[in-house]
Order: sequence, then C-alpha cells, then structure tokens
Amino acid sequence: MSFQQQFKCVLPNGIHARPASLLESVCNPYYCDISLHNLRNGNVGNAKSMLSLVGTDTLLNDEFVLMFEGEDSQTAMLALTQFMNERFPYCDDDITPVEVQRSVPIPQSLSRHQPFLLRGKSLVNGIAKGKLVASSEADLSLFLNCSSDQGKPSFQQVHKAVVAELEAEKLQASGKESEILAAHLSILQDREFLEYIEEQLVHQPIAHAILAALESFKAMLERSNSQYLRERVLDIKDVALRLLVNAYPNVNIEQQSQLSEATILLASELTPSQFLALDKRYLKGLVLSDAGSTSHTVILARAFDIPTLVNVDYELCHAELNSEVYLDCLLGVVAIKADDNVSVYFERALKLQQQQKQRFSEYTDKLAMTTDGHEVEIAANIACSIEVAPAIKGGAQGVGLFRTEMLFMDRSEAPSEQCQYQEYREALIAAQGKPVIIRTMDIGGDKPLDYLNLPKETNPFLGYRAVRIYPQFLELFHSQLRAILRAACHGAAKIMIPMVHNVEEIRWVKQQISLVEKQLKEAGLEYNNSVPLGIMVEVPATVFIIDKLAHEVEFFSIGSNDMTQYLLAVDRDNDAVSSLYNSLSPAFLRMLGQITLVAKQYGRWVGMCGELAADPKILPLLVGAGLDELSMSSPNIAKTKQQIAGLSFIECEALYQQACECSTRAEIEKLLSDAESEKTALPLLDEACVFTQLDVINKEEAIQALVGNIGVLGRSQNALLLEEDIWAREEIFSTGLGNGFAIPHTKSDNIEHSTISIAHLDHAINWHSDSGDVDFIIMLTLNKAHSDQHMQIFSKLARKLIHEDFRGQLKAATEPSKIITILQNELFSS
Ligand code: PEP
Ligand code: MG
Repeated sequence: MSFQQQFKCVLPNGIHARPASLLESVCNPYYCDISLHNLRNGNVGNAKSMLSLVGTDTLLNDEFVLMFEGEDSQTAMLALTQFMNERFPYCDDDITPVEVQRSVPIPQSLSRHQPFLLRGKSLVNGIAKGKLVASSEADLSLFLNCSSDQGKPSFQQVHKAVVAELEAEKLQASGKESEILAAHLSILQDREFLEYIEEQLVHQPIAHAILAALESFKAMLERSNSQYLRERVLDIKDVALRLLVNAYPNVNIEQQSQLSEATILLASELTPSQFLALDKRYLKGLVLSDAGSTSHTVILARAFDIPTLVNVDYELCHAELNSEVYLDCLLGVVAIKADDNVSVYFERALKLQQQQKQRFSEYTDKLAMTTDGHEVEIAANIACSIEVAPAIKGGAQGVGLFRTEMLFMDRSEAPSEQCQYQEYREALIAAQGKPVIIRTMDIGGDKPLDYLNLPKETNPFLGYRAVRIYPQFLELFHSQLRAILRAACHGAAKIMIPMVHNVEEIRWVKQQISLVEKQLKEAGLEYNNSVPLGIMVEVPATVFIIDKLAHEVEFFSIGSNDMTQYLLAVDRDNDAVSSLYNSLSPAFLRMLGQITLVAKQYGRWVGMCGELAADPKILPLLVGAGLDELSMSSPNIAKTKQQIAGLSFIECEALYQQACECSTRAEIEKLLSDAESEKTALPLLDEACVFTQLDVINKEEAIQALVGNIGVLGRSQNALLLEEDIWAREEIFSTGLGNGFAIPHTKSDNIEHSTISIAHLDHAINWHSDSGDVDFIIMLTLNKAHSDQHMQIFSKLARKLIHEDFRGQLKAATEPSKIITILQNELFSS
C-alpha cells in the first residue's frame, strides 16, 4: 500500500534541526516507510531521521511530497496531513543573527601610528600578546593514500573498537567532557551515518568510505539553517578521525596541540574539550572567527580569564600565522605587523593592565565593607561548574546566580538527572562551603530549546517561559530538583525559581519539592531536605506582594535585566527602544527600596543578580537602597569591592533617598555626578601621579602612560575617553611651553577626581611643537565641575615656568614628595 501527499514549506528558516526533529518524532510511531521528496532540488530524505530530513535542504516555499509505503500508510498519511496543516507551520522561531558590539574608538596614542588592526567583537576582556598559532586541525587527506584494506580489521571491528574506546573515556570523564563524549557516541551510532559508510564500503577502502561519509554529512550540515547543526560538523570530524586512526594506526597525523610559548590561538571553531586540553600557562588569548557569547568555549574562556575576540576575518588573520600579535579586547582588535611605535603602545597597555590587576587584587580577599562598616556580599554569576573555582579565587563570596539553562542548551536532548547532579555537585565542591544559588531552568520564551518543541510566540518575553512551563515538563523539572537536592549534600546549595509572579506558583513549586523528596527517600538516595528556597524578583507584580512571598521563601534576588524591561515595558532586545531601557529611573529606584524595606521587615535578605549589579555608576544607589548581596560576572568582583571600600553607607542612603525624589533620569544622573565630584577623598596632587624617571619614547606614549595611570588609580572610570579629551586640546595648539616643559590639559566629564600628573622623563622627546623637545610634563585633567580652577592653575603654572629657578627646582627634585611640595607651595599657597 502506498500513499502520497504534497505540501509547501512555510517555515521561514526551512526544515532545520527543530522542525526536522519534530517531524521525525511524529513519523516514528508508524510502521510504514515515510520519505520526504523535495520537488525543487530532487532531494529525498528518510522522514524518520532528523539528519536525513535536514539533508533535503527544504527551504521556505519549497514544494515537497511525503510518501508513505507499508501496512499503516493510510493512517500515517492522515495523521501527517493533519500535523502538517495544523502544527508544523507554527513549530519554528525566527533565527536572529548575532549582534555585533559597537566598537570602542581607537585611542590616538595608537591610531596616530597607523596600526594594522583586524576588528572583532570582544567576548572576554583583556589585553594579551603572543605568537599567533592556528588551532591544529588534523590533515585527514593523509588517509587518502590508504588505498588497500588488505590485512586490516573490518569496518565493523574498527567501529566496535571506537565505541568501546569512547565508552571507556566517558566513564572516566565528568561534566562538559562527558557530555561531549556522549554526543560523539551518538554520532558514531547514527543509523544514516553508518548506512552511508556501509554503502561506500562496497566499492572503496575503509578510509575512503569514512572520508566520503564525512564530506557528505559535512556538506549537508553546512547547508543547514541551524547554527546548532552547523556546529556539529566539528563533532562528526572528531568521530571520523577516531575511526580512521583506529583503522590505520600507522598513518602519522601528529596534531600539534602542545603550546610551548605565549600564544594567541586562532581557530575557526574551538570545541570546549579542545579548549580544556590547551596548556593555560601559555594560552594568552583566543581569536575565533565564529562563536556566540553563550557558547561553552567562550564561557570557559571567561572562567579562565582568557581575552577572547570573535567574528574576526579568519583569512586575514591566518595570513599572519607564527608572527607575534597583540590582542586588545578592550578595543576589540588584533594588531598585526606591529612596528616599533605600535609595539610601544601595546607594551604600555599591557603594563597598565598589569598594574590595574595588581590594584584590584588587593581587594580580592577582603570583604566589601563601606568606610562606616556596612557590609555587602559580593557573589558571582556563573553558567557552568567550571567557572566556580576561578570566581572564588577572584574574590566571590559565593555564587549568586547559577544559570542552569546553559546545561540544557546546545544539545539535542535534556541532560539526565545524573549528569545534572554531577554538574551541581562539582559547583558546590568548588565553592568550598560558600553558598551556591542554583536557579532552576529559565527556558522557553526567548530561550527556546529545539527538543521541547515549544510553540512559536509573538511575545516570548511575556510568554511561556521559566516556572510557567514546569507543569507541562514536570519530569524535566522533577529531575532537576532531584539533582539539586542530591548535590546539596556536598555544599551550601540554595534553589531559586525564575519568573515567579504570584504566591500560587511558589506554593506549587514547594509541593513539587516535597514530592521529589519523597521520591528520593523511597529510592533510598541521599539528599538534603532543608535547601533554602528563594525567587527571582523580576516581574513587577511580586514587588507589591513581597510580604506574602516572604512567608513562602527565604530570600529574594532582583533580576534587574528582566525587571527593567517589565517595569518600564521596554523590550531588552529591541534596538528601537534601547535608549528607554535604563534602570536609572525614579520608578526603578523607588521599587528597589520598597522591596528591601518590606523584605527586611520579614527578616529576608535581598540580592541583585542582573547586569546592573556591576554598574559602577549606580553602585552607591544599590548600596544605599539596602541590598544585601550583589552578584556579577567574576572579573567585576574585586573592582566592585574596591569601589565599596571607598563609599560611606550613610552617604549612600542619603543619596538614594535624594535620587528617589528626582523627577527625571537626567536629574538622577546630575545628582550622581555631583556627588562623585564632591567627593574630596582624592587630592589634586598625589604621589601616585608623579613619575621622576619616566621612560617613554614619544609624545603618544607619554600621554598614554599618564592618562592610563589615572585610570589605574580609579580617578577616571573611562581613561580612553579622557585621553581623547587631552588630544582634542593638543590638536588646537601644542602644549609645549619651551625649556623642555609641556602642560597638556583638559577639563572633562571623563574624570571623576581632578588630577595633576607630573612626569620627569628619562630623556627628552619630540612634542611636535615649535617650542622644542620636552622632558618635563605637568598634565592637568580637571573635572568640568572644577572648570574655574582649570584656567587658574594653567595660567599660574605657565607664569611660574617662565622663571628659571622654578624650572630648576622641579627638575632637580628626585622624590615625588619633593615635587608635590614645590607645586603645592607655588600654586596653592596664598
Ligand atoms: C535578570 O533578568 O536580571 C536575570 C539575572 O536573569 P536572566 O538575565 O538570565 O534573564
Ligand atoms: Mg531574568
């Protein structure tokens, strides 16, 4: 019996992974053979195989026929026709391209040297230098010489041996590594993949058959619209290589994977396991031509603090292999063919980065304590267990947000309970008794998963996501809860539920926890029955019932990313309204105080785990609003602790009250900048800004060094823009005064603490001024609020420098303190 039915593909991205797997799952229960015939390109695919369906390359508006052959083909055809008409058109989401970060302007101290820069998007910050090395790819073409299989084991034997090898490795592995090995095992056992090889074996040796299968599946996947499937090419290659190496152990395909000197690694793609295998002593930076900010490799790079740039032109970069390059993820560039001047810029930038790290590291192990003794806990946001140890080392007092949905993404099926248990357990052990807040999966809506087949939504942020999908995917939720409760025997775990908006939801969650506790008890498994439960406060409705919620849960953590968009009704991903997406509104600030006030009355603590928690500008208001904990990505931790150490809690509280009384965002911004400039903590003259023997080779380096130092000292939050302000003044007229002196100066919004920097140079440099070379620089960088002071100091200084004895005194001084005394006496004593 055979039937057929014609359809038209209405999916905007064609039949890629998600619709294909849905179609496959609908076809699978029937006994008959079902195939898809694409009428545009003639491709035919087995409708019971996801890989095969994707291979038909069925795109939007393609006509195709489903053919049914076998005993229940009529029933299958009727069911499939109904499915195709009713469900299939709505089973997909649009795929949005990666948005490229706005690039930071290149500072003039670099751009004036006309550097060769390749632009990219920074995903992990930092500056690095090293030899550009390509991530080694095995040369599979070497196996093409293996033209005979005489005396060789059969393909079946080779296949069996590789399955055994992978299974053995998987037993030894844990976490991410184990997941990757599982994925490779499933490719190795894929019916279509094996059938293809078997067919080729009829007329080709094993090597050729495997390589042909690799090429065929590679071509098919690369055509796919699914990023997920395209990324699987590398996995198929890994599997093919294992088979080839096993079949031909004598072929020498030595992969150069050992790093032996400071390296910037270039790769078109890099799998997490490849990243983990690299020697981190020598890995200084990563340049990837293609990777998303949520890719596991990038998450690992962030955890290991390896500066990472993506979306870089691979070919241009590849042409520079084996040469030394600089990677600057602050500017979002790779500098190639650096000449002496360009190298000088980057060497100075590296030195400044080192000094900055050194300064922050003083705060790593300290508590975040205000000058008047108020403590705020600083925790880390993580997405996988491997991030915990570096976060704790970087000063985290715990994990404030473990985004577990990352475990569920980039895979074809949900992780097992055991796999999750291991992941949570590893995180808890690495936290060494410090609290780890594990947020249950925040998936659905804008974070869809292929394998859940959730319906397409017109308004996903207000839709079917997080706690709202748990009742439908109950077993998935239960397995996550069981994994957390079991892992909680190994550390201080807490559970946090996302997107809760009423009491009913949290009561339901508590029932489910009781239920899985019962299951665990019955199964005789060890678990912790007193894991604290909290919720994300990210839906405005919760703010008005914090008192009721406080009876149900033990803690609250404000998700400022979502809360801002819901409170202000501004889509966080919509460029058209991005200027409205700002938490510095009186409404948002008043809301914070409302939450902390009520939560405290009920003895509950309140944290914040959205991006806002690491915003230095808003920090005084967060402290003043009474937040108990701030959770952020780990590179921000020591810096935030340092900033808190310079704040007074009483002043923050007063500032917060004033901000809540402001009517507009502009008023709040003014209030903050006035408060910042009123801070008299840092004097205009400071020994840390005086250099008695500065070794610089040109004007650019001198300005870079002095302004960079201001950034390192925290006197400016944006030294790169401050430098631009200095150069803007230099462009109008050069600030060389003659007799070896120069007074570069600016009044700027980009300096919080007005500063006079002084540098007596090792040797004179060309200042590009009619007044000759310069060996003594006095740089004035004054905040706009002190603009009257600016001209006073400048003219007084210029007048004094006419006198030879004053110049002589300054040049003779060998100690910073002496220079400060001279300037103090001459400029500020009446
Ligand atoms: C938030 O909404 O602020 C938050 C931390 O959750 P996510 O960014 O993962 O939605
Ligand atoms: Mg959120």
